[in-house]
Amino acid sequence: MVGYVIYGRGAFNQLDQILEPNRKNGLPMIFLVDHFFKNKELVNRIPVKENDKIIFADVTYEPKTTYVDSIAAELKETFGNVSGVIGIGGGSTMDLAKAVALMMTNPGSSADYQGWDLVKFPGVYKAGIPTLSGTGAEVSRTTVLTGPTKKLGMNSDFTPFDQIVLDPELTENAPKDQRFYTGMDCYIHCIESLQGTYLNEFSKSYGEKALQLCREVFIEKDNWDNESDDKLMMASYAGGMSIAYSQVGVAHAVSYGLSYLLGIKHGIGNCIVFNHLEEYYLEGVREFKKMVEKNGIHIPENICSGLTEEQFRVMIDVSLGMKPLWENALGKDWEKIMTREKLKALYQKL
Ligand code: NAD
Ligand code: ZN
Repeated sequence: MVGYVIYGRGAFNQLDQILEPNRKNGLPMIFLVDHFFKNKELVNRIPVKENDKIIFADVTYEPKTTYVDSIAAELKETFGNVSGVIGIGGGSTMDLAKAVALMMTNPGSSADYQGWDLVKFPGVYKAGIPTLSGTGAEVSRTTVLTGPTKKLGMNSDFTPFDQIVLDPELTENAPKDQRFYTGMDCYIHCIESLQGTYLNEFSKSYGEKALQLCREVFIEKDNWDNESDDKLMMASYAGGMSIAYSQVGVAHAVSYGLSYLLGIKHGIGNCIVFNHLEEYYLEGVREFKKMVEKNGIHIPENICSGLTEEQFRVMIDVSLGMKPLWENALGKDWEKIMTREKLKALYQKL
């Protein structure tokens, strides 16, 4: 669980006070900021002190283990250690911040810790400040990384942020399509959690609330306004809390293969896959299509046409490696249901 949470318009202005007690022995705070904000007004509002450093995170691609390792190595070389790492951005930047904070105290490469409960030591202090709503990366116990052999998170009790600052004003200028794709990540988290075999009352309580908020934002409202940003930020939080105690499912497992091979980003990748999952989530897919239409969003098709047998093999391997996701979606006997042939046929439809 995240230790401290503040929520509200303008909450970002409290960052200086929040960080003050966490500054240690003159060591710097490192602000990892989504490169979208370079030369934007938000950067001037970051409470930079003495030897603090702002690093603009290049999120053209989703975070790679090599990128995490290089930032951590540079920080160690320059400062020895740091007071903390503050991630300001979408899911990619927040994941990067979590991973770098962990790699300041854990030996080796972040690729060594891709999996479940492999991280050995708590990282340095870390705080997350989302500027896009939907991934739930602000609350989750994972940081999703693409490594040399797999796309998999550093899932551990040391991974969640110590503090998050939820300020819906920061999501105000997100482009419509990006906002939708990342928002749908939250919607899909809810559907996959609520229909999964791992579901319990904890997950259900948060998942139902998040789902309701997604519906209010993407179906009931006719225009995007401040209230939409407020609601989607809470949907993301609750959706993330829901999967903290359950798991995601088919869309995520299949989308991981797409993003590993083709570099397709998480939000849009999930949409591309979910669009074809009537067999598993009939009502959810119908509602999703309604949201796509109402919000005037384009979901790409035919992205797997022209792929080679070898490329399908790679995607299938990555996807079937996500065992807990499949088990949550299809039950203990999932391997009998989701054969390589069936999964290939699904990829061919996308
Ligand atoms: P993102 O962080 O990849 O950002 C997408 C784009 O939006 C980038 O170009 C970024 O610069 C831009 N952007 C960010 N904030 C903006 C703003 N306010 N205005 C305008 N542009 C803005 O997108 P995302 O969907 O938030 O995150 C996806 C990432 O999150 C993936 O790497 C995925 O693996 C990860 N993820 C992590 C978890 C987790 O639990 N840790 C869960 C889901 C997804
Ligand atoms: Zn997701």
